[in-house]
Formats: sequence, structure tokens, C-alpha cells
Amino acid sequence: MRTFGLIGYPLTHSLSKQYFDNKFKLDKITDAEYFLFPLKNIDQFPDLLRNNPNLAGLNITTPYKESIIKYIDEIDREAKLIGAVNTIKIKHNSNGLKLTGFNTDAYGFEKSLKPLLNPEINKALILGSGGASNAIKFVLKKLGISFIVVSREPLKIHQLDYKGVSSSIIAEHKLIINATPIGMYPNTDEYPDIQYGWLTPNHILFDLIYNPSETMFLKFGKEQGVKTVNGLNMLYLQAEKSWKIWKK
Ligand code: NAP
Repeated sequence: MRTFGLIGYPLTHSLSKQYFDNKFKLDKITDAEYFLFPLKNIDQFPDLLRNNPNLAGLNITTPYKESIIKYIDEIDREAKLIGAVNTIKIKHNSNGLKLTGFNTDAYGFEKSLKPLLNPEINKALILGSGGASNAIKFVLKKLGISFIVVSREPLKIHQLDYKGVSSSIIAEHKLIINATPIGMYPNTDEYPDIQYGWLTPNHILFDLIYNPSETMFLKFGKEQGVKTVNGLNMLYLQAEKSWKIWKK
């Protein structure tokens, strides 16, 4: 049996296990299983590897997509450029384990975003500066969409704090992406601190969260006539890409 799974914390929101259990059933894959491995601290990762000798691949979610990198032997070129890993392939050889890191969030995000784009969408706001935010920045650069990252503690150029998101910034940036866990199950009554009343029907709100399917962020957008999309399609796309990497 080959074991796959997801590490992160918390994992109560995750649909990854349902997705892979269902896939293994539908595709009649009988030698694979998928588990959730909530790790309170990334320091527990070596123990997880020791205690699960059949591990063949892992997905990584919030908040470990950057901190996992120090445990990886080799990193794929795109994941290195992005600076975040959400998929690990684990090979067993005579010297022990070899861990290779990949990023499939960028692929999932690009494929979900592209059908929504129009020439008016040439500037974006990315809320949050973690692992998923890095993948989004990579895709937006590739698509020629300029962006500003909104962070609670802006450190770098091209970053703003939430108070800095003025009406003119909102008017200029027609694509707004929530790459924070704010509003994710079970904290479904929370939402990013922006002025939703400044949004127009020409805006697009993309929430990477998929549980709940409509966060407060998307609900407030819809109330202004905004086009909204959640992270479910992105989840499926990145999961399928992970599977392709694992089964190679
Ligand atoms: P992460 O590495 O933990 O980063 C999230 C960022 O959000 C943080 O760096 C932080 O940025 C901001 N943040 C965290 N807590 C916050 C709070 N209480 N208030 C305001 N900002 C906060 O997480 P991630 O891996 O990037 O994932 C972010 C979200 O995207 C999660 O909900 C995850 O489930 C979702 N996601 C979905 C998919 C999908 O396939 N649909 C893929 C990837 C991620 P600042 O410190 O700069 O404010």
C-alpha cells in the first residue's frame, strides 16, 4: 500500500481526503490511501516520516508551504522560483528517503483564473503574504498582471497594510485575491478588512478558500454585483497535478 496525505494545521476545513478517497474509488486504484496529518508544529515532520514508512507523497497546506523547504532534498525549478512547496514526492532507496518538492498551486490558480480574465484586469491586490501568495505572484507575473500585496505587517516595496487600501487603490485593482485563511471553516464569520462598498461590477473577487463555498469576502462582493470565484476548482486542479507527480 502507498500512503499519501496532507500536512498543515488546522486541517478541519480540508476536502483533500474526500477528493482522493473518491478518486481512488472511481479510478479503481486499490494500492493507495490518503490521510490527513495535522501537525501543530513543523518540527514534528521527521517523526511523521519515521512513523509512516509507506509514505509516497504529501500535500502541504497552511502554514507550512515555506517552512517545509528545509526538510526537502531536491526542489523543482518552478517551486524554487515561487519559494513555496505544496507537494512532496517521497522515494525510498538504499540510503533512506529522497524528498522532492513541487508547487502545484500555481498551476491550479492559473487554470482557474484564466477563463475569468479580460483586458480590463491588468492590476491585482493579493491579500496575505504566505505560501499561496507566492504562487499567485508567480502566476500574475507570468500573465503580465501587476500586483500589490496587502499584509498585516508590510515590509517590502509592493506591499500595503489593510488601512492603505484606499478607494483609489480598489478602483485601480480590478482583481482582488484572498490568499489568507480569514473566513475559512470554522471561522466563517471572519473576513479581510477592506471596504467592500468601494467594489464595482467590474471587479473580480477570487477566494482561495473553498470551505465554506461562499465566504463573507465573496458574499460582500456579490452584494456589490462583483464576479466571485472560490478555491474549489483550484483545489481539484492542484490535487490532480500532485497525483500526476506522485504516480510518475
Ligand atoms: P499561510 O502560508 O499560512 O499564509 C497566509 C497568509 O495570510 C499569512 O502569511 C498572513 O499574511 C495572512 N494571514 C494569516 N492569518 C491572518 C489573519 N488572522 N488576519 C489577516 N491575515 C492573516 O497560508 P497559505 O498556505 O498561503 O494559504 C492561504 C489560504 O489559501 C488558506 O486558507 C488555504 O487553505 C488557501 N489555499 C487554497 C488553495 C486551493 O487549492 N484552493 C491552495 C492554496 C491555499 P500577512 O502576515 O502578510 O498578513
